[in-house]
Amino acid sequence: MMPDIREQVRAWIGDHWHADLPLGEWRRLLLDSGWAAPSWPAEWFGRALPPAADAIVGEELARVGAVGPPLGAGVGLAAPTLLAHGSDHLKRTLLAPILTGEHTWCQLFSEPGSGSDLAGLTTRAERDGDEWLVNGQKLWSTSAHHADFGMLLARTDWDVPKHFGITYFVLPMQQPGVEARPLRQMNGHASFNEVFLDDARVPDVNVVGTAGDGWRVALSTLAHERGFATMRRRRVDAGGGRTLREATAEADAYFATYSWYPQRAGRPDLVGDVAAATGRNRDTVARQRIAAVVSRQRAHDWTARRAQAARAAGRSPGPEGSLGKLGASEVARSAASTHSLLAGAAGTLTGGDGLLDGVVAEILTSVPAQSIAGGTDEIQRNIIGERVLGLPKEPSVDRDVRFRDVPRNATRPDP
Ligand SMILES: Cc1cc2nc3c(=O)[nH]c(=O)nc-3n(C[C@H](O)[C@H](O)[C@H](O)COP(=O)(O)OP(=O)(O)OC[C@H]3O[C@@H](n4cnc5c(N)ncnc54)[C@H](O)[C@@H]3O)c2cc1C
Repeated sequence: MMPDIREQVRAWIGDHWHADLPLGEWRRLLLDSGWAAPSWPAEWFGRALPPAADAIVGEELARVGAVGPPLGAGVGLAAPTLLAHGSDHLKRTLLAPILTGEHTWCQLFSEPGSGSDLAGLTTRAERDGDEWLVNGQKLWSTSAHHADFGMLLARTDWDVPKHFGITYFVLPMQQPGVEARPLRQMNGHASFNEVFLDDARVPDVNVVGTAGDGWRVALSTLAHERGFATMRRRRVDAGGGRTLREATAEADAYFATYSWYPQRAGRPDLVGDVAAATGRNRDTVARQRIAAVVSRQRAHDWTARRAQAARAAGRSPGPEGSLGKLGASEVARSAASTHSLLAGAAGTLTGGDGLLDGVVAEILTSVPAQSIAGGTDEIQRNIIGERVLGLPKEPSVDRDVRFRDVPRNATRPDP
């Protein structure tokens, strides 16, 4: 079946791709043909093909230098969650603008007091006619300063245990009740925000799943997040015509937020360059460390490919996402410590004064994020221990009591 898919999409691209189409028009053609997301159901903009078809289409688009659907939390996290749990209304109104790039998304899960213990969140939503009023604070919300919609978790029932009183909403971000304040990171970038919700309004039709069932829906988003590929910019030839120029402008705006993500992965590919630049490539200890980093990175890459193959075969992401996430952290940390060994104090200099134009300094200040974003290393180890190795569950004192009675450092009274 796969050669057929390749031939079909190749023929379709041959008939439709013109480098001078407006980007929106080209993406609309892709959408209408079902080739924008071929693995999605046929009634929801796809072709009901196996997941491997998405990669084949990507390869065929890249072969002729054509542009695909946009990258980001919309395609990577919101869309699979809506496909699995959203009402027909939400799928009809929200999926197409994700694929055409008209709407961008952010994830409003973490709070000042709830990151690893996400189910302990206290942002509240209260019914007000056919709307909900949302009050509270979210934190570390990547891209919230320019997103159109947020995947929001809020507590709607305080009289049931913590996992059962949460509702998953699609929050329109561009409204007076939502204020996103960018935070500056130690690597100098400002890619995430604190988000203040002050009587923010969400229509009831924007509940994903049912009220109180938000934890189950959130697990679906989190499973996709742990398998979410590291952000890598696709190569676009800006000289190639209108579509590519507009795609380049879109990618420039998008990657302004994520430009440091490659560094957060530790850049094991650069350890040889740094060794050469510092003259440490003849040092026996340094050479052993370089070999260890490269071996670890290759082993991780093969594990990731096995997980990708499983996904392509139609298995939904599960605990192997945690294995991959933890492996990526270990590669990043060992690469950063090797860069540090090779560079010495020179590795702390930023910008043009620093090694590889400051990339080494950016690696050293970005790598810690790899072990935190999308669930910390310790949380991945808990998941692997419980779900892969079958170890006893982590002890918990607040799982089965009503949330209102859970002792916590509350900044405002419960409703
Ligand atoms: C680059 C980046 C981007 C992010 N983007 C987003 C985003 O877009 N949207 C969003 O909602 N959030 C986002 N986050 C937030 C991220 O999900 C949280 O930071 C993460 O879940 C950890 O929560 P926390 O920061 O509250 O740490 P805490 O949960 O307070 O953890 C502190 C420490 O305690 C450890 N710990 C906690 N509980 C346990 C346990 N049960 N067992 C063992 N150890 C434990 C942790 O491992 C950690 O070392 C982002 C974070 C980063 C770094």
